[in-house]
Amino acid sequence: MMAQYLELKADHADALLFYRMGDFYEMFFDDAVAAAEALDIALTKRGKHQGKDIAMCGVPVHAAEGYLLTLIRKGFRVAVCEQMESPAEAKKRGHKSVVKRDVVRLVTPGTLTEESLLEARRHNYLAAFAEVRDACAMAWVDISTGAFHVMPLAQVRLGPELARLAPSELIVSEAKESELQEVVSDFGIALTGLARSAFDSTSAEKRICDLFDIATLEAFGTFTRAEVSAMGAVIEYLTITQRGNLPLLRPPQKEAEARTVQIDAATRRNLELTHSLNGGRTGSLLSIMDNTATAGGARLLERRISSPSRVIEVVNARADAISFAFDTPRVAQDIRERLRNVPDLDRALSRLSLDRGGPRDLAAIRNGLIEAEALHQSLTQHELPDLLRSAAEGLQGHGDLIDLLDQALVAEPPLMVRDGGFIAPGYDEDLDSARELRDEGRGVIAGMQQQFVSDTGISSLKIKHNNVLGYFIECTATHAEKMLSAPLSETFIHRQTTANQVRFTTVELSELETKILNAGNHAQEIEKRLYERLRSAILDQAAEIGQASSGLAEIDLASALADLARSENWTRPRVDMSRAFEIEGGRHPVVERALAQKSGEPFIANDCNLGAENDAANIWLLTGPNMAGKSTFLRQNALIALMAQMGSFVPATSAHIGIVSQLFSRVGASDDLARGRSTFMVEMVETAAILNQADDRALVILDEIGRGTATYDGLSIAWATLEHLHDVNRARALFATHYHEMTALAGKLPGVDNATVAVKEWEGEVVFLHEVRKGAADRSYGVQVAQLAGLPAPVIARARVVLEALEKGEREGGTTQKTLIDDLPLFAVSPAPQPKAAKSSAVEEKLKEIIPDELSPREALELIYKLKEAA
Ligand code: ADP
Repeated sequence: MMAQYLELKADHADALLFYRMGDFYEMFFDDAVAAAEALDIALTKRGKHQGKDIAMCGVPVHAAEGYLLTLIRKGFRVAVCEQMESPAEAKKRGHKSVVKRDVVRLVTPGTLTEESLLEARRHNYLAAFAEVRDACAMAWVDISTGAFHVMPLAQVRLGPELARLAPSELIVSEAKESELQEVVSDFGIALTGLARSAFDSTSAEKRICDLFDIATLEAFGTFTRAEVSAMGAVIEYLTITQRGNLPLLRPPQKEAEARTVQIDAATRRNLELTHSLNGGRTGSLLSIMDNTATAGGARLLERRISSPSRVIEVVNARADAISFAFDTPRVAQDIRERLRNVPDLDRALSRLSLDRGGPRDLAAIRNGLIEAEALHQSLTQHELPDLLRSAAEGLQGHGDLIDLLDQALVAEPPLMVRDGGFIAPGYDEDLDSARELRDEGRGVIAGMQQQFVSDTGISSLKIKHNNVLGYFIECTATHAEKMLSAPLSETFIHRQTTANQVRFTTVELSELETKILNAGNHAQEIEKRLYERLRSAILDQAAEIGQASSGLAEIDLASALADLARSENWTRPRVDMSRAFEIEGGRHPVVERALAQKSGEPFIANDCNLGAENDAANIWLLTGPNMAGKSTFLRQNALIALMAQMGSFVPATSAHIGIVSQLFSRVGASDDLARGRSTFMVEMVETAAILNQADDRALVILDEIGRGTATYDGLSIAWATLEHLHDVNRARALFATHYHEMTALAGKLPGVDNATVAVKEWEGEVVFLHEVRKGAADRSYGVQVAQLAGLPAPVIARARVVLEALEKGEREGGTTQKTLIDDLPLFAVSPAPQPKAAKSSAVEEKLKEIIPDELSPREALELIYKLKEAA
């Protein structure tokens, strides 16, 4: 056995080998040590190899999925090795033969299909990046849904695209593995190197044609060599990991970078699109917008948020679909109720195609298609916009398959085929009669028990069943003697004695048992055969079911976003090819929700007009104290643009947006210690990326750029950056800064306007109004904010003195820092005000002596009388 193990292990050196032994997957040697630690399970020993103990650990087969998930999350790959024959079969071959085993599947992050291993509402992508001569491309699949995409992609753009798609695994040629390690590790993606041959574009083409059963790749459009190579690598990898059992993939769809808004990784992180800054989903735009009823709808939403469109027709078609649902609330309500019953068709289909499914997947397809037909009926009674019309078209035409599944399956089938009982009675005559035989037998056994009780006079005698003995007669030890002696011992054959029980059988009982068993096995076989038939009936219609599923997702998303627009008071934006950016009454969807939940305070809506259109300024320079709401304002406008271009309604009273091609968002000096660069360096690298890339259709959000360095450095960098954005990039931009000096730029550059977030001073404290107005902030109120934050009073007082002196110096001009410092008395920090040492009153003296905890209520009352007297 060890020889067999070592041979299999040698082929899968980079994976943990799950070696099937009966009801367990066992791991040996280093695998065992690593797995025991990762899974926190016991490490044991078994036998010796080359004189040393063999380390071993194992997980039960029935609980293997949970352990697999943990291992995959911790970065392991797992090769699952099964027994390919029963021990009995092995024995037949020779009495010392080891059971045949083989690796049936390699489990990696990008190739999961199990429901329990996947997040229902997210895609799980496997991507491949290929380079052929100087051209590069990326292909990606979600084998749990069959989605398959490809696009040309320059290597410098790999990072942003990985950020957009967030695949769980990236395949590259071994030669490129180390070069790409850094890009990939930023995103926590598993990197897998494949031999160069997997990327060969000629054999790739053949692989693709074979998979889709087409004569030439042109059937799917034209592809570059690099694209073909990337697609071929994906297929090759699936062949390796799935051991030839290829999943059902949809024909590859070509994506073009030019069709989606370019958003780099830092911007995505910053705007908290799909994850909040602390890593979770809560607090992200996705979490606010996810109002979908189906998992397919949720995945579509995630795709849309990650890849907003810059094609005007696409944006408007999506918005039309939402408008329809928005304008017909009753219809939309009906749709949503139906959708709530729709199971995850894509993933059920994928499991069936990989032969990892079960009766419940058949039922999922049935239930989903029934709802789809019903939705088709109700939707087509209305005048639908294009997107919904074509979505609705895909929902029909499944009558025959539905009838088949409906007749064949029970309402709620079990998970596994071997559980049995999923085929409805009356569907198959043979099955019915096998089941009848089996059940009759069970009835006869019940009668038999009564007979035995009266024959023996032992009223507690029972017929029971377990997996080892099958059916047996059981009585307590007290009656054993009677059973074991004549005449009863002639009928009752002793099988087993346990601590309290004695077990018997009879000839009659074993005969009956065999009958029941045979009938049961026969029923199971028939069910298995019927399962296969239903499965292939479904797979024959895979493309159509896939279409229904996409249609359902589209309808779900449109109705979900319409519903959200109504409850959150969002409006349809006007999106066109102008260069406008006019937002009236804009809000930040996430902050608004958080405020409503936390304090119930209203969110203050604000306008924004980067009207490059009407010769107005295309850059707003925003000043105002910390905590006033600058970042919120900046981000809300970026989010509104993004939501508009994903086709959604937006949180504003009105919005007019000329298509945005690139979205950039940067925050000064955010910590990025993980990457080992100084915060200021990161800030500058990111700013450089914007200034080098942004075109006149970009929307740029810069928050406190330059904050990470000394004042004059920071100011000069911020200053020059703004000028560059204005003169060279000509982008629409919002620029928040605390350098008041910069407000002077508005007078100098025609495209720059000053804006400020208003605050009010009241009794020496600031009150944040969160209102964005034209004009510059008069001052920064830093001292007041510091006071709010609880800086000690002496520090605040001292800061006021210093500030006054600085401001005075500035007003009078020419004051150098030196004279300033000289003017300010050194060490002038006034000590914290001490409680005055005035003589305390009699009452105070008395109070000091009291220990309240020791007083009874009555004593307390008396004390109050006394104090009153003394006062
Ligand atoms: P800044 O960037 O100016 O320091 P933030 O944008 O971080 O300020 O805002 C600080 C806090 O003020 C936010 O966390 C939010 O609770 C509140 N806030 C910001 N904008 C608004 C608004 N328009 N209406 C209501 N509250 C707001």
